[in-house]
Amino acid sequence: MNNPIKNLFALPKGMLLLLGIYALSFPAIYLEVKLTGHSRVLEWLGLNPALVWKGQVWRALTFELTSASVLSWAINLFWLATLINILRNDWTSLRLWIFCFISAVGAAIPLLLIFRQADVYFTGGWAIVCALLLAWDRFYGRERILMLGLFHHRAQRRHHLLRLRWLAIHALDALRRRDRLALPDDWPETRDEPWQPNRGITTRRPAGIMICAEPKRLVAEKSFSRAVLARKHALLARSALADCHLCAHHCGVNRLNGETGLCHAGANANFFFAQTEVTDELELIPTFAVALSGCDLRCDFCITGAESWNPRAGKIFSAEEMAAKAKAALVDGAKTVMILGGEPTIHLPAALELVAALPDNAKLVWKTNAHGSAQARELLDGMFDVWLADFKFGNDGCAQRLAKVSDYVAVVQENLLWANEHSELVVRHLLMPGHIDCCWKPVAAWLAENLPGVKVNLRSGFWPAWHTARHVELRGTVSTSETERAWEIAREHRLNLIP
Ligand code: SF4
Repeated sequence: MNNPIKNLFALPKGMLLLLGIYALSFPAIYLEVKLTGHSRVLEWLGLNPALVWKGQVWRALTFELTSASVLSWAINLFWLATLINILRNDWTSLRLWIFCFISAVGAAIPLLLIFRQADVYFTGGWAIVCALLLAWDRFYGRERILMLGLFHHRAQRRHHLLRLRWLAIHALDALRRRDRLALPDDWPETRDEPWQPNRGITTRRPAGIMICAEPKRLVAEKSFSRAVLARKHALLARSALADCHLCAHHCGVNRLNGETGLCHAGANANFFFAQTEVTDELELIPTFAVALSGCDLRCDFCITGAESWNPRAGKIFSAEEMAAKAKAALVDGAKTVMILGGEPTIHLPAALELVAALPDNAKLVWKTNAHGSAQARELLDGMFDVWLADFKFGNDGCAQRLAKVSDYVAVVQENLLWANEHSELVVRHLLMPGHIDCCWKPVAAWLAENLPGVKVNLRSGFWPAWHTARHVELRGTVSTSETERAWEIAREHRLNLIP
Protein backbone atom coordinates (compact mmCIF):
# COMPACT_ATOMS: atom_id res chain seq x y z
CA MET A 1 0.00 0.00 0.00
CA ASN A 2 2.95 2.27 0.25
CA ASN A 3 3.32 2.95 -3.44
CA PRO A 4 2.69 6.70 -3.70
CA ILE A 5 2.27 6.81 -7.46
CA LYS A 6 -0.20 3.91 -7.42
CA ASN A 7 -2.10 5.53 -4.52
CA LEU A 8 -2.37 8.80 -6.35
CA PHE A 9 -3.63 7.33 -9.59
CA ALA A 10 -6.18 5.26 -7.64
CA LEU A 11 -7.75 8.46 -6.35
CA PRO A 12 -11.39 9.18 -7.31
CA LYS A 13 -11.53 11.20 -10.55
CA GLY A 14 -12.74 14.40 -8.87
CA MET A 15 -9.83 14.35 -6.43
CA LEU A 16 -7.34 13.55 -9.15
CA LEU A 17 -8.72 16.46 -11.16
CA LEU A 18 -8.13 18.93 -8.33
CA LEU A 19 -4.62 17.63 -7.78
CA GLY A 20 -3.89 17.69 -11.50
CA ILE A 21 -5.08 21.29 -11.92
CA TYR A 22 -2.86 22.46 -9.11
CA ALA A 23 0.08 20.38 -10.31
CA LEU A 24 -0.09 21.90 -13.80
CA SER A 25 -0.88 25.50 -12.86
CA PHE A 26 2.57 26.64 -11.86
CA PRO A 27 4.45 24.92 -14.71
CA ALA A 28 1.98 26.53 -17.13
CA ILE A 29 2.54 30.00 -15.66
CA TYR A 30 6.28 29.47 -15.56
CA LEU A 31 6.45 28.40 -19.21
CA GLU A 32 4.29 31.30 -20.28
CA VAL A 33 6.60 33.74 -18.54
CA LYS A 34 9.65 32.11 -20.08
CA LEU A 35 8.15 32.35 -23.56
CA THR A 36 6.36 35.70 -23.45
CA GLY A 37 7.89 37.60 -20.59
CA HIS A 38 4.66 37.78 -18.63
CA SER A 39 1.75 35.54 -17.63
CA ARG A 40 -1.80 36.24 -18.70
CA VAL A 41 -2.85 33.15 -16.68
CA LEU A 42 -1.56 34.77 -13.51
CA GLU A 43 -3.10 38.06 -14.52
CA TRP A 44 -6.51 36.40 -14.66
CA LEU A 45 -6.22 34.05 -11.69
CA GLY A 46 -4.37 36.07 -9.06
CA LEU A 47 -6.21 37.72 -6.19
CA ASN A 48 -6.25 41.41 -6.94
CA PRO A 49 -8.41 43.07 -4.23
CA ALA A 50 -9.13 46.18 -6.29
CA LEU A 51 -10.34 44.09 -9.23
CA VAL A 52 -12.39 41.74 -7.03
CA TRP A 53 -14.23 44.71 -5.56
CA LYS A 54 -14.89 45.80 -9.15
CA GLY A 55 -16.64 42.49 -9.85
CA GLN A 56 -13.95 39.95 -10.76
CA VAL A 57 -15.04 37.69 -7.91
CA TRP A 58 -13.63 34.47 -9.39
CA ARG A 59 -10.23 35.59 -8.26
CA ALA A 60 -11.26 34.78 -4.66
CA LEU A 61 -11.23 31.13 -5.77
CA THR A 62 -8.73 30.90 -8.57
CA PHE A 63 -5.86 32.56 -6.71
CA GLU A 64 -5.52 29.30 -4.74
CA LEU A 65 -4.39 27.63 -7.96
CA THR A 66 -1.44 29.93 -8.34
CA SER A 67 1.87 29.87 -6.55
CA ALA A 68 4.36 32.55 -5.73
CA SER A 69 7.44 30.41 -6.27
CA VAL A 70 8.54 26.97 -7.35
CA LEU A 71 9.28 26.21 -3.69
CA SER A 72 5.81 27.23 -2.57
CA TRP A 73 4.23 25.24 -5.43
CA ALA A 74 6.28 22.12 -4.67
CA ILE A 75 5.56 22.18 -0.94
CA ASN A 76 1.85 22.84 -1.41
CA LEU A 77 1.62 20.10 -4.05
CA PHE A 78 3.34 17.64 -1.73
CA TRP A 79 0.91 18.40 1.11
CA LEU A 80 -2.10 18.44 -1.16
CA ALA A 81 -1.25 14.98 -2.52
CA THR A 82 -0.57 13.61 0.96
CA LEU A 83 -3.72 14.95 2.59
CA ILE A 84 -6.07 14.07 -0.27
CA ASN A 85 -4.63 10.56 -0.30
CA ILE A 86 -5.52 10.19 3.41
CA LEU A 87 -8.88 11.93 3.42
CA ARG A 88 -10.08 9.99 0.38
CA ASN A 89 -11.26 7.19 2.74
CA ASP A 90 -13.70 9.49 4.48
CA TRP A 91 -14.51 12.14 1.89
CA THR A 92 -16.14 12.22 -1.50
CA SER A 93 -14.73 14.25 -4.36
CA LEU A 94 -17.65 16.65 -4.03
CA ARG A 95 -16.94 17.18 -0.35
CA LEU A 96 -13.29 17.85 -1.13
CA TRP A 97 -14.14 20.42 -3.79
CA ILE A 98 -16.67 22.16 -1.54
CA PHE A 99 -14.16 22.19 1.30
CA CYS A 100 -11.48 23.67 -0.92
CA PHE A 101 -13.96 26.21 -2.27
CA ILE A 102 -14.83 27.36 1.26
CA SER A 103 -11.16 27.39 2.30
CA ALA A 104 -10.18 29.56 -0.63
CA VAL A 105 -12.98 32.08 -0.08
CA GLY A 106 -12.30 32.04 3.66
CA ALA A 107 -8.69 32.95 3.03
CA ALA A 108 -9.54 35.56 0.42
CA ILE A 109 -12.04 37.50 2.53
CA PRO A 110 -9.56 38.92 5.09
CA LEU A 111 -7.14 39.83 2.30
CA LEU A 112 -9.94 41.59 0.45
CA LEU A 113 -10.95 43.49 3.57
CA ILE A 114 -7.47 44.45 4.72
CA PHE A 115 -6.07 45.31 1.28
CA ARG A 116 -9.34 46.64 -0.09
CA GLN A 117 -7.91 49.04 -2.63
CA ALA A 118 -4.59 47.30 -3.23
CA ASP A 119 -3.78 46.74 -6.86
CA VAL A 120 -1.52 43.77 -6.15
CA TYR A 121 -1.76 40.08 -6.97
CA PHE A 122 -1.88 37.57 -4.14
CA THR A 123 -1.07 33.97 -4.99
CA GLY A 124 -2.38 30.91 -3.06
CA GLY A 125 -2.31 27.17 -2.44
CA TRP A 126 -1.52 27.66 1.21
CA ALA A 127 -5.11 28.18 2.41
CA ILE A 128 -6.38 24.89 1.00
CA VAL A 129 -3.39 22.99 2.37
CA CYS A 130 -3.75 24.56 5.83
CA ALA A 131 -7.51 23.85 5.87
CA LEU A 132 -6.97 20.23 4.77
CA LEU A 133 -4.37 19.79 7.46
CA LEU A 134 -6.81 21.14 10.04
CA ALA A 135 -9.44 18.70 8.73
CA TRP A 136 -6.96 15.85 9.00
CA ASP A 137 -6.05 16.93 12.50
CA ARG A 138 -9.73 16.97 13.49
CA PHE A 139 -10.23 13.40 12.23
CA TYR A 140 -6.92 11.74 12.98
CA GLY A 141 -4.66 14.28 14.67
CA ARG A 142 -3.34 11.86 17.31
CA GLU A 143 -1.79 9.71 14.61
CA ARG A 144 1.28 10.08 12.54
CA ILE A 145 0.74 11.18 9.03
CA LEU A 146 1.96 8.97 6.17
CA MET A 147 3.41 11.37 3.72
CA LEU A 148 2.86 10.27 0.17
CA GLY A 149 3.20 6.69 1.50
CA LEU A 150 6.89 7.34 2.09
CA PHE A 151 7.50 8.43 5.67
CA HIS A 152 5.66 9.53 8.80
CA HIS A 153 5.38 12.74 10.67
CA ARG A 154 3.38 14.19 13.57
CA ALA A 155 0.63 16.42 12.19
CA GLN A 156 0.62 18.89 15.07
CA ARG A 157 4.26 19.66 14.58
CA ARG A 158 3.63 20.10 10.90
CA HIS A 159 0.85 22.53 11.77
CA HIS A 160 3.27 24.93 13.34
CA LEU A 161 5.90 24.44 10.69
CA LEU A 162 3.30 25.01 8.03
CA ARG A 163 2.10 28.24 9.59
CA LEU A 164 5.66 29.51 9.89
CA ARG A 165 6.43 28.50 6.34
CA TRP A 166 3.32 30.27 5.12
CA LEU A 167 4.15 33.45 6.98
CA ALA A 168 7.72 33.42 5.70
CA ILE A 169 6.79 32.74 2.11
CA HIS A 170 4.11 35.38 2.00
CA ALA A 171 6.22 37.96 3.75
CA LEU A 172 8.78 37.34 1.02
CA ASP A 173 6.06 37.49 -1.59
CA ALA A 174 4.97 40.88 -0.37
CA LEU A 175 8.53 42.14 -0.66
CA ARG A 176 8.91 40.58 -4.07
CA ARG A 177 5.70 42.05 -5.49
CA ARG A 178 7.46 44.31 -7.79
CA ASP A 179 5.46 45.33 -10.84
CA ARG A 180 2.32 44.73 -8.73
CA LEU A 181 2.56 40.96 -9.34
CA ALA A 182 3.72 38.12 -7.06
CA LEU A 183 6.37 36.45 -9.17
CA PRO A 184 8.13 33.08 -9.15
CA ASP A 185 11.62 33.12 -7.59
CA ASP A 186 13.29 33.08 -10.98
CA TRP A 187 10.80 35.29 -12.76
CA PRO A 188 12.60 36.76 -15.74
CA GLU A 189 13.27 40.45 -15.65
CA THR A 190 12.44 41.01 -19.30
CA ARG A 191 9.67 43.60 -19.12
CA ASP A 192 10.45 47.16 -19.73
CA GLU A 193 7.21 48.56 -18.40
CA PRO A 194 5.14 47.84 -15.33
CA TRP A 195 2.60 45.15 -16.14
CA GLN A 196 -1.04 46.37 -16.54
CA PRO A 197 -3.79 44.13 -15.15
CA ASN A 198 -6.64 44.09 -17.33
CA ARG A 199 -21.31 23.77 -5.08
CA GLY A 200 -35.79 12.96 -0.39
CA ILE A 201 -35.48 12.97 3.22
CA THR A 202 -32.01 12.87 4.40
CA THR A 203 -29.89 14.15 7.24
CA ARG A 204 -26.18 14.35 7.67
CA ARG A 205 -26.58 13.13 11.26
CA PRO A 206 -26.24 9.40 11.96
CA ALA A 207 -29.59 7.69 12.60
CA GLY A 208 -28.48 6.64 16.11
CA ILE A 209 -30.49 3.61 17.26
CA MET A 210 -32.02 1.25 14.72
CA ILE A 211 -35.46 -0.03 15.76
CA CYS A 212 -36.46 -3.05 14.55
CA ALA A 213 -32.00 -19.16 20.94
CA GLU A 214 -30.28 -20.88 22.85
CA PRO A 215 -26.43 -20.93 22.54
CA LYS A 216 -24.87 -23.84 20.72
CA ARG A 217 -22.19 -24.05 23.40
CA LEU A 218 -21.14 -21.44 25.90
CA VAL A 219 -17.46 -20.66 26.12
CA ALA A 220 -17.86 -20.62 29.93
CA GLU A 221 -18.85 -24.30 29.84
CA LYS A 222 -15.50 -25.25 28.37
CA SER A 223 -12.82 -26.79 30.58
CA PHE A 224 -10.26 -23.96 30.27
CA SER A 225 -10.24 -20.55 31.87
CA ARG A 226 -11.29 -18.05 29.26
CA ALA A 227 -9.73 -15.19 31.17
CA VAL A 228 -6.32 -16.86 31.19
CA LEU A 229 -6.51 -17.64 27.50
CA ALA A 230 -7.76 -14.12 26.74
CA ARG A 231 -4.75 -12.64 28.51
CA LYS A 232 -2.43 -14.64 26.26
CA HIS A 233 -4.40 -13.76 23.16
CA ALA A 234 -4.44 -10.07 24.11
CA LEU A 235 -0.65 -10.05 24.24
CA LEU A 236 -0.46 -11.77 20.88
CA ALA A 237 -2.98 -9.33 19.43
CA ARG A 238 -1.02 -6.36 20.70
CA SER A 239 2.20 -7.62 19.17
CA ALA A 240 0.28 -8.25 15.94
CA LEU A 241 -0.25 -4.49 15.68
CA ALA A 242 3.38 -4.21 14.62
CA ASP A 243 2.34 -5.61 11.23
CA CYS A 244 -1.38 -5.14 11.26
CA HIS A 245 -3.47 -7.75 9.43
CA LEU A 246 -6.36 -7.83 11.90
CA CYS A 247 -8.92 -7.19 9.22
CA ALA A 248 -9.17 -8.23 5.60
CA HIS A 249 -7.69 -4.95 4.42
CA HIS A 250 -4.27 -6.39 5.38
CA CYS A 251 -2.62 -2.98 5.61
CA GLY A 252 0.60 -4.38 7.12
CA VAL A 253 1.32 -1.13 8.96
CA ASN A 254 3.12 -0.84 12.28
CA ARG A 255 0.42 0.61 14.56
CA LEU A 256 2.75 0.32 17.56
CA ASN A 257 5.03 2.76 15.84
CA GLY A 258 2.37 5.33 15.03
CA GLU A 259 1.59 4.13 11.53
CA THR A 260 -2.04 3.82 10.59
CA GLY A 261 -3.91 1.81 8.01
CA LEU A 262 -7.30 2.28 6.39
CA CYS A 263 -9.12 2.27 9.76
CA HIS A 264 -6.86 5.08 10.99
CA ALA A 265 -6.68 3.39 14.42
CA GLY A 266 -3.54 3.61 16.49
CA ALA A 267 -2.24 1.23 19.14
CA ASN A 268 -4.82 2.16 21.79
CA ALA A 269 -8.61 2.19 21.76
CA ASN A 270 -11.25 4.76 22.59
CA PHE A 271 -14.91 3.98 23.32
CA PHE A 272 -17.89 6.17 22.54
CA PHE A 273 -20.52 4.51 24.71
CA ALA A 274 -20.73 1.85 27.41
CA GLN A 275 -24.23 1.27 28.75
CA THR A 276 -26.97 -1.29 29.16
CA GLU A 277 -29.00 -1.55 25.95
CA VAL A 278 -32.30 -3.16 24.99
CA THR A 279 -32.39 -2.61 21.22
CA ASP A 280 -30.55 -5.75 20.12
CA GLU A 281 -31.82 -9.30 19.61
CA LEU A 282 -34.35 -10.29 22.31
CA GLU A 283 -32.31 -13.30 23.43
CA LEU A 284 -29.33 -11.08 24.10
CA ILE A 285 -30.92 -8.18 25.98
CA PRO A 286 -30.52 -6.46 28.25
CA THR A 287 -26.90 -6.29 27.24
CA PHE A 288 -24.08 -4.16 28.54
CA ALA A 289 -22.75 -2.78 25.27
CA VAL A 290 -19.24 -1.37 24.85
CA ALA A 291 -18.75 0.52 21.61
CA LEU A 292 -15.12 0.99 20.56
CA SER A 293 -14.41 3.92 18.28
CA GLY A 294 -13.28 3.47 14.69
CA CYS A 295 -14.05 1.05 11.89
CA ASP A 296 -12.39 -0.57 8.89
CA LEU A 297 -15.45 -0.04 6.67
CA ARG A 298 -16.99 3.21 5.48
CA CYS A 299 -20.70 2.43 5.15
CA ASP A 300 -22.48 5.54 3.99
CA PHE A 301 -25.63 4.42 5.91
CA CYS A 302 -23.74 3.97 9.19
CA ILE A 303 -26.12 4.44 12.15
CA THR A 304 -23.48 5.71 14.55
CA GLY A 305 -21.71 7.94 12.05
CA ALA A 306 -18.69 9.91 13.07
CA GLU A 307 -17.96 7.92 16.24
CA SER A 308 -17.86 4.72 14.23
CA TRP A 309 -15.54 6.17 11.65
CA ASN A 310 -13.27 8.11 13.94
CA PRO A 311 -10.98 6.05 16.24
CA ARG A 312 -10.27 9.23 18.21
CA ALA A 313 -13.92 9.73 19.18
CA GLY A 314 -15.07 9.24 22.76
CA LYS A 315 -12.93 8.45 25.80
CA ILE A 316 -9.75 6.49 26.34
CA PHE A 317 -10.57 2.81 26.90
CA SER A 318 -9.36 1.07 30.07
CA ALA A 319 -10.08 -2.69 30.24
CA GLU A 320 -10.07 -2.73 34.05
CA GLU A 321 -12.45 0.23 34.39
CA MET A 322 -14.74 -1.14 31.70
CA ALA A 323 -14.76 -4.62 33.30
CA ALA A 324 -15.86 -3.06 36.60
CA LYS A 325 -18.76 -1.33 34.82
CA ALA A 326 -19.70 -4.53 32.99
CA LYS A 327 -19.65 -6.59 36.18
CA ALA A 328 -21.91 -4.03 37.88
CA ALA A 329 -24.30 -4.19 34.91
CA LEU A 330 -24.36 -7.99 35.10
CA VAL A 331 -25.21 -7.78 38.81
CA ASP A 332 -27.97 -5.30 37.93
CA GLY A 333 -29.55 -7.74 35.47
CA ALA A 334 -27.76 -7.53 32.13
CA LYS A 335 -27.80 -10.94 30.42
CA THR A 336 -24.79 -10.36 28.24
CA VAL A 337 -21.77 -8.17 27.63
CA MET A 338 -21.48 -7.09 24.02
CA ILE A 339 -18.36 -5.64 22.45
CA LEU A 340 -18.99 -3.70 19.30
CA GLY A 341 -17.83 -0.64 17.39
CA GLY A 342 -17.35 0.93 14.97
CA GLU A 343 -15.73 -2.41 14.47
CA PRO A 344 -14.11 -4.12 17.50
CA THR A 345 -11.78 -6.25 15.34
CA ILE A 346 -9.53 -3.29 14.71
CA HIS A 347 -9.12 -3.00 18.52
CA LEU A 348 -8.62 -6.70 19.22
CA PRO A 349 -5.96 -6.18 21.93
CA ALA A 350 -8.29 -3.91 23.95
CA ALA A 351 -11.29 -6.21 23.41
CA LEU A 352 -9.33 -9.27 24.56
CA GLU A 353 -7.97 -7.37 27.57
CA LEU A 354 -11.60 -6.69 28.53
CA VAL A 355 -12.49 -10.39 28.08
CA ALA A 356 -9.52 -11.28 30.32
CA ALA A 357 -10.89 -9.00 33.05
CA LEU A 358 -14.43 -10.44 32.95
CA PRO A 359 -15.71 -13.52 34.81
CA ASP A 360 -15.53 -16.78 32.87
CA ASN A 361 -19.29 -17.33 33.28
CA ALA A 362 -20.26 -14.00 31.69
CA LYS A 363 -22.00 -14.47 28.35
CA LEU A 364 -20.05 -12.44 25.84
CA VAL A 365 -21.22 -11.25 22.45
CA TRP A 366 -18.92 -10.20 19.60
CA LYS A 367 -20.81 -7.80 17.37
CA THR A 368 -18.86 -7.51 14.16
CA ASN A 369 -18.98 -6.55 10.53
CA ALA A 370 -17.43 -9.99 9.79
CA HIS A 371 -14.59 -8.42 7.85
CA GLY A 372 -11.84 -9.81 10.09
CA SER A 373 -8.80 -11.75 8.93
CA ALA A 374 -7.85 -15.39 9.64
CA GLN A 375 -5.35 -14.05 12.20
CA ALA A 376 -8.11 -12.19 14.05
CA ARG A 377 -10.33 -15.29 14.03
CA GLU A 378 -7.52 -17.36 15.55
CA LEU A 379 -7.13 -14.83 18.36
CA LEU A 380 -10.91 -14.76 18.88
CA ASP A 381 -11.21 -18.54 19.13
CA GLY A 382 -12.79 -19.47 22.49
CA MET A 383 -13.39 -15.86 23.53
CA PHE A 384 -17.02 -15.15 22.71
CA ASP A 385 -20.22 -17.13 23.24
CA VAL A 386 -22.10 -15.41 20.46
CA TRP A 387 -21.02 -13.81 17.21
CA LEU A 388 -23.55 -11.23 16.11
CA ALA A 389 -22.36 -10.68 12.57
CA ASP A 390 -23.53 -8.45 9.76
CA PHE A 391 -23.97 -9.68 6.20
CA LYS A 392 -24.69 -6.29 4.68
CA PHE A 393 -24.24 -6.73 0.96
CA GLY A 394 -25.10 -9.53 -1.42
CA ASN A 395 -22.52 -8.55 -4.03
CA ASP A 396 -19.14 -6.87 -4.18
CA GLY A 397 -20.38 -4.02 -6.35
CA CYS A 398 -22.79 -2.68 -3.72
CA ALA A 399 -20.13 -3.21 -1.03
CA GLN A 400 -17.60 -1.20 -2.96
CA ARG A 401 -20.04 1.57 -3.76
CA LEU A 402 -21.71 1.90 -0.34
CA ALA A 403 -18.86 0.91 2.04
CA LYS A 404 -15.68 1.35 0.01
CA VAL A 405 -14.59 -2.27 0.52
CA SER A 406 -13.50 -4.84 -2.05
CA ASP A 407 -13.84 -8.63 -1.95
CA TYR A 408 -16.52 -8.17 0.68
CA VAL A 409 -18.75 -11.19 0.05
CA ALA A 410 -16.01 -13.86 0.16
CA VAL A 411 -14.48 -12.39 3.33
CA VAL A 412 -17.82 -12.22 5.16
CA GLN A 413 -18.84 -15.72 4.07
CA GLU A 414 -15.50 -17.07 5.35
CA ASN A 415 -16.02 -15.37 8.72
CA LEU A 416 -19.62 -16.55 9.04
CA LEU A 417 -18.69 -20.18 8.29
CA TRP A 418 -15.90 -19.99 10.89
CA ALA A 419 -18.10 -18.30 13.51
CA ASN A 420 -20.81 -20.93 13.05
CA GLU A 421 -18.23 -23.63 13.81
CA HIS A 422 -16.69 -21.89 16.82
CA SER A 423 -19.60 -20.18 18.60
CA GLU A 424 -23.26 -19.38 18.51
CA LEU A 425 -23.96 -17.30 15.40
CA VAL A 426 -26.62 -14.73 14.69
CA VAL A 427 -26.51 -13.11 11.26
CA ARG A 428 -27.94 -9.67 10.74
CA HIS A 429 -29.04 -8.10 7.52
CA LEU A 430 -30.31 -4.57 7.31
CA LEU A 431 -32.91 -4.09 4.58
CA MET A 432 -32.05 -1.09 2.46
CA PRO A 433 -34.27 0.62 -0.12
CA GLY A 434 -33.43 -0.56 -3.62
CA HIS A 435 -31.24 -3.40 -2.36
CA ILE A 436 -33.71 -6.26 -1.89
CA ASP A 437 -32.89 -8.20 -5.07
CA CYS A 438 -29.21 -7.30 -5.33
CA CYS A 439 -28.31 -7.71 -1.63
CA TRP A 440 -30.93 -9.42 0.53
CA LYS A 441 -31.89 -12.08 -2.05
CA PRO A 442 -28.34 -13.46 -2.56
CA VAL A 443 -27.60 -13.18 1.19
CA ALA A 444 -30.75 -15.18 2.00
CA ALA A 445 -29.94 -17.78 -0.67
CA TRP A 446 -26.37 -18.24 0.57
CA LEU A 447 -27.45 -18.52 4.24
CA ALA A 448 -30.10 -21.11 3.32
CA GLU A 449 -27.61 -23.19 1.38
CA ASN A 450 -24.50 -22.88 3.56
CA LEU A 451 -25.76 -22.16 7.09
CA PRO A 452 -29.19 -23.84 7.20
CA GLY A 453 -30.99 -23.09 10.45
CA VAL A 454 -28.66 -20.27 11.45
CA LYS A 455 -30.40 -17.49 13.33
CA VAL A 456 -31.10 -14.52 11.11
CA ASN A 457 -32.29 -11.12 12.20
CA LEU A 458 -33.78 -9.20 9.29
CA ARG A 459 -33.44 -5.60 10.39
CA SER A 460 -36.12 -3.27 9.09
CA GLY A 461 -35.15 0.04 10.62
CA PHE A 462 -33.20 1.66 7.79
CA TRP A 463 -33.19 5.42 8.10
CA PRO A 464 -31.77 7.76 5.42
CA ALA A 465 -29.05 9.42 7.47
CA TRP A 466 -25.31 10.03 7.61
CA HIS A 467 -23.99 9.89 4.04
CA THR A 468 -26.98 8.16 2.44
CA ALA A 469 -27.70 11.28 0.40
CA ARG A 470 -24.74 10.28 -1.76
CA HIS A 471 -26.84 7.44 -3.20
CA VAL A 472 -30.12 8.12 -4.91
CA GLU A 473 -31.76 4.85 -3.80
CA LEU A 474 -30.85 5.46 -0.16
CA ARG A 475 -32.55 8.82 0.13
CA GLY A 476 -35.80 7.34 1.45
CA THR A 477 -36.98 4.54 3.70
CA VAL A 478 -37.74 0.92 2.72
CA SER A 479 -41.16 0.78 1.10
CA THR A 480 -43.96 -1.49 2.29
CA SER A 481 -43.75 -3.52 -0.93
CA GLU A 482 -40.00 -3.95 -0.48
CA THR A 483 -40.49 -5.14 3.09
CA GLU A 484 -43.15 -7.62 1.96
CA ARG A 485 -40.86 -8.85 -0.81
CA ALA A 486 -37.99 -9.29 1.70
CA TRP A 487 -40.16 -11.37 4.03
CA GLU A 488 -41.36 -13.43 1.09
CA ILE A 489 -37.72 -14.19 0.18
CA ALA A 490 -37.03 -15.20 3.80
CA ARG A 491 -40.03 -17.55 3.78
CA GLU A 492 -39.03 -19.05 0.42
CA HIS A 493 -35.61 -19.94 1.85
CA ARG A 494 -37.08 -21.14 5.15
CA LEU A 495 -34.75 -18.91 7.13
CA ASN A 496 -34.68 -19.14 10.90
CA LEU A 497 -35.69 -15.56 11.59
CA ILE A 498 -35.41 -14.23 15.10
CA PRO A 499 -36.60 -10.93 16.60
S1 SF4 B 1 -7.28 -3.21 11.50
FE1 SF4 B 1 -7.54 -3.51 9.28
S2 SF4 B 1 -7.76 -1.43 8.45
FE2 SF4 B 1 -6.88 -1.18 10.50
S3 SF4 B 1 -4.68 -1.14 10.13
FE3 SF4 B 1 -5.18 -3.26 10.61
S4 SF4 B 1 -5.50 -4.25 8.61
FE4 SF4 B 1 -5.60 -2.00 8.30
